[in-house]
Amino acid sequence: MDRSATSAEVERVVAAAERLGLKAHPIPGAQRTAVGITGNKGAVGPGAFEALPGVLEVLSVSHPYKLVSREFHPEDTIVSVGGVLVGGTRVVVIAGPCAVESLEQTLTIAREVKARGADVLRGGAYKPRTSPYAFQGLGEEGLKILAAAREATGLPVVTEVLDTAHVEIVAHYADCLQIGARNMQNFELLKKAGKTGKPILLKRGMSATLEEFLLAAEYVLAENNPGVILCERGIRTFTDFTRNTLDLSVVPAVERISHLPIVVDPSHGTGRREKVLPMSRASVAAGADGISVEVHNRPAEALSDGPQALTPDMFGELMDQVRAIAAAVGRTT
Ligand code: PEP
Ligand code: MN
Repeated sequence: MDRSATSAEVERVVAAAERLGLKAHPIPGAQRTAVGITGNKGAVGPGAFEALPGVLEVLSVSHPYKLVSREFHPEDTIVSVGGVLVGGTRVVVIAGPCAVESLEQTLTIAREVKARGADVLRGGAYKPRTSPYAFQGLGEEGLKILAAAREATGLPVVTEVLDTAHVEIVAHYADCLQIGARNMQNFELLKKAGKTGKPILLKRGMSATLEEFLLAAEYVLAENNPGVILCERGIRTFTDFTRNTLDLSVVPAVERISHLPIVVDPSHGTGRREKVLPMSRASVAAGADGISVEVHNRPAEALSDGPQALTPDMFGELMDQVRAIAAAVGRTT
C-alpha cells in the first residue's frame, strides 16, 4: 500500500481479496502496510487490486513461501517475548536448563542467568526424549515452576509444546511457545500453536532444508500470527565430534530472504559445553538476533543434556564475550 494509505483503503483491498475467495493478511510495517494474499490455486492478475485507492504496487511472490518472505515484508520483523524484543539491534540471550527438574533447580538457574544478563528463561516441561525410559519432563508442574521463576526474576519464559493436546496449557503459562526440531513439520501443531497468537520459537528440523524451515514458519504466519523466531540448532551430518553440525551459514541466508528474526542454539548444535562459547561468538558474528543456551547449576546431575550445559560462571564468561562481539558488529546487548 502507499505510505499514505488509510486503514479504510487497506480494508477495501482485504474485502476485494475475500470476494475472490482468497485470504488477505495485512502486515503493518514501519513505512507502509503490505497486504499478503494467499489461497490462490493459479495466478491472480494484478487487475483486481491495482486500481483500488491506496494501492502502490502489486507484486507476485514466486517462492512457495510467501508471508515469511522479504518480498512481502521488506522490513525486519521484531517479535516481543513478554516485552523482550527479538529482531531489532539488540542481541537477545535466552538461557536456562534443558529441562525443568524442580522448583529449587529452576529458581537457582533463573537467578544465576538473570544476574549475568540473560533476557529470557528457557526450560522444558514436556521433553522430547529419544528413549521412552528417559526423563520426560514434569508436565504442568514444570509449567507452574517456570511461571514461579518468571515471578521471581521478571524473565519471560519460553518452553516447548510437544503435542497439540498441550497447546492451550502451555500457552496459558508461557510467554513464547517453542516448537522443537522433531516437530518442525508437525503441521497440526504449527497451526494450533499459531492460532494462540503467542510468539513461536521454531527450531529447525534435524534434516530440514531452508525452504522446509521457512514453509514451517509460513504455517504459523498463515494463522495471522506474525510472531515467529527461527532457531538454528544444528543439523545431522556425518561428523561425530559434535552432536549436530551447527549450520551458521543459514543465518545470512535467512536474513536475505526472510524478515523473520533468527537465533542460534549452540548447545544442541554442538552437544559439548566447551564448544558453546566459541560457537556463541560465531553466531553473533554471523548476524544472529540472539542465542539460546543451556545452563545448569549442577551439570553432572542434570536429568537431560548435562554434557552441553554451561555452569553459571561459564555463562557469565559467555555474556562478556557476546557483548564484545555484538559491539564489534554494530549490535547492542
Ligand atoms: C530443547 O531446546 O530443549 C530441545 C529439545 O531442542 P531441539 O528440539 O532443538 O532438539
Ligand atoms: Mn536440551
